[in-house]
Formats: sequence, C-alpha cells, structure tokens
Amino acid sequence: MWRGGAVRVLRGGGAGTPRSASGAASAQLRRRLENELEDIRGAGTWKSERIIASRQGPHLRLAGGGAGILNFCANNYLGLSSHAEVIRAAVEALEKFGAGLSSVRFICGTQSIHKDLEEKIARFHQREDAILYASCFDANAGIFEALLTPEDAVLSDELNHASIIDGIRLCKANKYRYKHMDMQDLEAKLQDAQKHCLRLVATDGAFSMDGDIAPLREICQLAQKYDALVFIDECHATGFLGPNGRGTDELLGVMDKVTIINSTLGKALGGAAGGYTTGPKPLIDLLRQRSRPYLFSNSLPPAVVGCASKALDLLMESNAIAQSMAAKTQRFRSKMTAAGFTIAGKDHPICPVMLGDARLAAVMAEDMLNRGIYVIGFSYPVVPKGKARIRVQISAVHSDEDIDHCVEAFTEVGRKHGAIP
Ligand code: PLP
Repeated sequence: MWRGGAVRVLRGGGAGTPRSASGAASAQLRRRLENELEDIRGAGTWKSERIIASRQGPHLRLAGGGAGILNFCANNYLGLSSHAEVIRAAVEALEKFGAGLSSVRFICGTQSIHKDLEEKIARFHQREDAILYASCFDANAGIFEALLTPEDAVLSDELNHASIIDGIRLCKANKYRYKHMDMQDLEAKLQDAQKHCLRLVATDGAFSMDGDIAPLREICQLAQKYDALVFIDECHATGFLGPNGRGTDELLGVMDKVTIINSTLGKALGGAAGGYTTGPKPLIDLLRQRSRPYLFSNSLPPAVVGCASKALDLLMESNAIAQSMAAKTQRFRSKMTAAGFTIAGKDHPICPVMLGDARLAAVMAEDMLNRGIYVIGFSYPVVPKGKARIRVQISAVHSDEDIDHCVEAFTEVGRKHGAIP
C-alpha cells in the first residue's frame, strides 16, 4: 500500500531545476568525470551529435536552421525508415496492439505480431526459426554465453563489431582472434582449436568501417574441413546483399553452410530498432530459455514490430529496391574513383573515402556540410591510425542527382584541401 508519509519531499528548486547530491563522494565523482571528459576532448576523439529536426531520409532538416541537407551517413540503405507503408504499418500496430507490453516475453509480453515477425524472419532467411531481441547488440550479447561451454572454442575476426566482442567476452569458451579476413590465420587457429569440443567461427558478414565483405565461401570451406560452425552478423547486409537481399550468405552462395545469423531491424529493415537470431530450431528454443538479454528485457514495442514486418513484406514481394540501391552505389563508386578518390571495399553501399589524415577527414567533412552534404569523418581510435576516412553510405532513395551533387561537392572540397589533384 502506498503511504504518503513514507515519501520524502525534495526541497528547493522547482520543476526544471537540476538536482545533484552533495557530499565528498559526489564531488570526487564529478571531478573524475570532468577529467575524463577533458581527456576525451584533448585526444580529439569527442563525438558530438548533430540534431535532426525532420524524419530520417535522403534530405534532412537540422535543428537550428540547416534545411535541405543531403544525408549520406545513415544505415537507411533501402530508404524504408520513412517509407509510407512502413509508417502506416507502425501506426496500425500501435493502435491495435498498444504502446508496449510492460513485460518481458516469457511473462506476458508475447503478442501474435511478435510470433508472426519471428516466423517471417525465419522464412526470409530460409532458416528453421527466429527470436527477437531489443537490438542486435543484445542478440550478440546473448548468444555466445547461452550456446558455448568452457569446453568449446570461438574464433572471431579481429575487426568484428563491438557487440560481438562483448558477447564473446561474456562466454566461457576458449577464445581465438584471427587476423581480419586472413584465411591462413583462421586455419592455423582452427587447427589449434581441434582440442576443444565445439568450434564456432564468428564474423561480420559485411564490415561497417571498410565496407568489405567476409570471404564466407572460404570460411565455410575451412569450417567444413575442421568441423566448425559458422555465425555471421548481417547488420550491414540483410535486405540488400545478394540477388534477393537475403544477405552475405546468399551473395556468396553459402546459405546452406552458415548455421547462425544475427541481424538488426534498425538499419535496412525500417530502421526503427530491434535485432534477432535465426537458425536451427533447438538453438532458438535454447535462447528463449537461457539468453539473458532476451529473458530480462522488455518485449519489442508493437509499432517497431509493425515497421519491420512491413519492411520484410516489401522485400519479399520484390527485389527492386535492393537493385536500385546497388545501381546507385555503383554510380557513386565509379564517379568518385574517376575523380581521383580511393574508395575502400567493393560493391557495398558503405563507401569509405580514404584520406589517411585525421585532420583532413574532419575539415573535409565540415566543408561538405557547409555545402549541404552530411557525411562523417572517422579517425583513430574508431579506425586504425593513418586510415582516416569519410564514410559515405548510399541509400535506394538517393536520386541520381543527389549522388552526382555529392560527387561534385567531394571533388571541389577534395581539390581545395589537396586530397585529389
Ligand atoms: N552488429 C553490427 C555489425 C553493427 O553495425 C551494429 C550497429 O551498429 C550492431 C551489431 C548493433 O545493432 P543494433 O543497432 O540493432 O543494436
């Protein structure tokens, strides 16, 4: 029973006045935090956030004025984040199923739309079953610990996404890290791992910093030779890589050789949020029993489920959107190369414009924004020293004119700063 008398009324400061605790420990904490923040600023690695005042899309309005900004830095590969049918599906799901479940899945948080979406994801990837998470970060955090024992081994590409690295940290299996996409090194590690019970090779399907695609055919061949399982993170592949957008495994013809796929609903598939694992039914059943981010976190909100479900419907009806993105990627890559830039990766909508120097990447990105093009410079420690770049991401909803405008701006800015002749 609620007892008014037990509640202490905080004095001082009306609504909107921040409160902070007093005392020596609080002061010590504040000093420590301020020093740490100063270190980050001093190291030049401070990440500031631009505030967008419109929907996600190829044309943005930034808070504080900038309208008509051309956006080349979202993971909105298929342009579904603001697709009319995706938004309508979210509104309908919101109205029919409510704002949220106020519960985890196994207590009272599973609705028919969650089951329908899991079935649709499994069908899309041609797998036995699927399980939803609040994010792919959670899916990666939850799988290794649930699946692997201290007798097993996990072999992970050194450039795997942070969430895979964290997920692997949480498990008790023996850990091997192989050099990025280096099949000789993977083979050596697989030989060493023969002494363990079960072996799992874990790799990003497409790597987000370089736009390069894992050599899955070779990985699967090695996995077969050394009796290992293959896990891929398809966050930068689901919906658009491969003839029908199924992902890296479809692109490279190894759909029947990859055992486990983790991916996100927060990039190409409507861009709202959410992640999943798809694979063998007993694995999915086990994750429902053991995977901590699934067991101890709220169900996906119905509106988010509605978005992703509609995005998958659109992709299963036709591959036209994915094909249009591929054509635009090709246009950008070939025009930029002709202008004298080096674009890392191959055929992927992540197009890193390699510049080398961190300062050059930062000033060029700033100058691009002055010309109405929103791109982001990446430098150490996000990418290796000497490999600073501006990462451009192409979307199906960019027009050819948008692409050409971006290339023209890069050419002007690149010449101004001596990045190209
Ligand atoms: N895996 C990769 C390769 C990613 O790029 C990301 C997001 O940046 C994630 C996992 C996490 O996805 P989510 O945003 O669904 O947590």
